[in-house]
Amino acid sequence: MEHIKNSTKLIGIKDLNIKISIVLKHQTHIEIRAELDYPAPACPHCQGKMIKYDFQRPATIPILDVQGMATVLKLKKRRFQCKACRRVSVAKTSLVKKNCQISQPVWAKITQLLIEKQTNTDIARRLHVSVSTVQRQLNAFTFKDNFETLPEVLSWDEFARNKGKLAFIAQDFKTKKIIALLENNRQTTIKNHFYKYSRQAREKVRVVTVDMSGAYIPIIRKLFPKAQIVLDRFHIVQHLSRAMMTTRIATMKAFDKTSLPYRAMKNHWKILQKDSRKLSDKAFYSRTFRQTLTPREIVQKTLDFSPELRYYYELYQLLLFHFQEKRVKAFFGLIHDNLGTVNASFSRVFRTFLKHETYITNALKQPYSNAKLEATNKLIKDIKRQAFGFRNFKNFRTKILITLNIQRERTKIVLSRT
Ligand SMILES: [Zn+2]
Repeated sequence: MEHIKNSTKLIGIKDLNIKISIVLKHQTHIEIRAELDYPAPACPHCQGKMIKYDFQRPATIPILDVQGMATVLKLKKRRFQCKACRRVSVAKTSLVKKNCQISQPVWAKITQLLIEKQTNTDIARRLHVSVSTVQRQLNAFTFKDNFETLPEVLSWDEFARNKGKLAFIAQDFKTKKIIALLENNRQTTIKNHFYKYSRQAREKVRVVTVDMSGAYIPIIRKLFPKAQIVLDRFHIVQHLSRAMMTTRIATMKAFDKTSLPYRAMKNHWKILQKDSRKLSDKAFYSRTFRQTLTPREIVQKTLDFSPELRYYYELYQLLLFHFQEKRVKAFFGLIHDNLGTVNASFSRVFRTFLKHETYITNALKQPYSNAKLEATNKLIKDIKRQAFGFRNFKNFRTKILITLNIQRERTKIVLSRT
């Protein structure tokens, strides 16, 4: 707690050498006229004795709103003259930096609002400053990379920045802190970044979670020789689910568009995609079948139209079952048994799975996934949308780090106090 003794301090001006002379309330804003004055110091040029001279013409400095109104400080600064060298110098204040027209409390407020995820335009409007002033403050944030240590569990992914370009992101699985945010996802960029860490630091990484593409696997093995690679569970299931979707559509198209089989496969696609163990037991009126049915009954009736679809449906559901129950042997056994008979979509997925068998097995045995990083990527999308896309990656990166790293640390500080 701080005891505020005077009105200048109340409006955020800490410099006691600033004295308010008059306050005018205009229709659109409040104008505070003040003077900056103090006893003459020694001459900055020759250390000689100075005397008070005149006042400078008032400078207009925006300060924080008073009574919810835009407020400007019209500040007249004292000038001193040296009796020895005759040179004139101007009184100094901590309120504004040299050659700057924005007061320190406004800078501090910009910083706070940037951390609170406000958009640059909103901040500019709220504090009556230009967007480029906010941008300048954003640029003042510097993030020092720490190349000493790496987390035990890392999540890797990429995200779209602009015009289809992909940026690279790595996150600490446990703390959700962003560890790396790189302009592109080229292998050399990633390698050069992580080689800044010592081999010792890199060997401490135990697990790296990554999506299904497999593109990063060779460099992960090089960079983190002791790490287990874990493919993301969600992506594995997504691959299966897509194969099921393609198969259903192909089966459906063999029927006439007006026929019941076609309409059942089309209109009830969600029920067919869903994990059968999660189907509800509640009956509802199906307009396609013109009767009240439970989702299970709809599945059976639809599969009656096509033995082929039934085969794929059952295979898909069994794979989901083994996967969720973490039955590695059964999961891969089923894939091996059906590899020769499945259609092209399933065959492609199966071959990918077999290629990454070790990493999928890790996914089934380890509690780690990319889920938290996916959530971070959603936040990044919001930041991008707010700013209508960032032309400059450095600004984008700063904004992401302010929002996700600084904010998290602040929250932690607040939480740890209680
Ligand atoms: Zn002098």
